[in-house]
Amino acid sequence: MENKKRKISIIGSTGSIGRQALEVIEKLEDKFEIIALAGGNNVELLKKQAEKFKPEYICSNTPSPHAREGWSEGVTILHGPEGLEQICSNKENDIILVACSGKIGLRPTLTAIKNGIDIALANKETLVMAGDIVMNEAKKYGVNIIPVDSEHCAIHQCIKDIKQVDKLIITASGGPFLHKSIEDMKNATVEQALAHPRWNMGKKITVDSATLMNKGLEIIEAHHLFGFNYDDIDVVIHPQSIVHSAIEYVDGSVIAQLGLPSMHIPIQYAITYPKRFEGIKSKSFNFADIARLDFEKPDYDKFPTVKLAYKMGRLGGTATVCMNAANEEAVFAFLDGKIKLYNIYEITKRMCDEHDVIQNPTIDEIFTVDELIRRKTKECIKKFS
Ligand code: MG
Repeated sequence: MENKKRKISIIGSTGSIGRQALEVIEKLEDKFEIIALAGGNNVELLKKQAEKFKPEYICSNTPSPHAREGWSEGVTILHGPEGLEQICSNKENDIILVACSGKIGLRPTLTAIKNGIDIALANKETLVMAGDIVMNEAKKYGVNIIPVDSEHCAIHQCIKDIKQVDKLIITASGGPFLHKSIEDMKNATVEQALAHPRWNMGKKITVDSATLMNKGLEIIEAHHLFGFNYDDIDVVIHPQSIVHSAIEYVDGSVIAQLGLPSMHIPIQYAITYPKRFEGIKSKSFNFADIARLDFEKPDYDKFPTVKLAYKMGRLGGTATVCMNAANEEAVFAFLDGKIKLYNIYEITKRMCDEHDVIQNPTIDEIFTVDELIRRKTKECIKKFS
């Protein structure tokens, strides 16, 4: 990409990762050309983005998507899942940043892969729900899946020869309840759960960080992305969030990636890979300012979600689809004030225990299981609220 601009589309441009990606692109405007921006329901922001970044296409979820009012001149307006499919089958794209949250990211990602378009992946559900299918397709079509999540991005940066790596070490900040009692956690308010000490993220992922389910989902993603057995993926608590993850080579050498906790850095890495630019960098890293880095073992009695994720990951098939769907519904119920924080785990565990795992599921089977579990979870939530 020396002289040629890299052509990019963003699925989820109005969300937390999407907005930060546009800040990166603004700093590197001579390096990128935006083909399409897809946002959810925040049409006003999408309009502003379209005016500023002049994409060829936009895609929204609004009921009257074809109304031209307020949209910048010349932009083609697409709508809903069909619009996402159209964006992801446009071979003009060099790379697509999948930054939406939820299962809506899965089908468009597969479409982009089949069209040979590289993926910068920030959507967790893509790998948690269909990791085997997605990674097989990526291999088949020779497509790069470059992770955006800070932990996987760190591992991606550390690995030179994957065959010589023994172990992946994923760091976790521990969230707002790290040094609080289990009782405090059980009685936590929505505000307390949303007060993450290190990272500023969307609400769903922030609650997942408080219960550590986010780390559970990341273990499953790492298993698929890097092809490691669950026994060779470790989690360590690191409250400062400076070491973003590490790998251990066969000879005992450990390589870690460090940086200030800002999502701009992994986003920029993912969309400019394999090149690096100054771009969003605002200040130099200073070890003396950081002063200390602490590490500790995760307390699985307090955070049983991580153990559940290992278990469901090892079961494979639709086990992780079930865990993801149940957890998401329970998190929404918590955010709505219907259940307590700790109930999220209890409800998710119950759904997982009752689930009959389907091995090697098709994409349709995955979506059927997802919907079934969501219905069952909503029923289960009523008993808790
Ligand atoms: Mg992460």
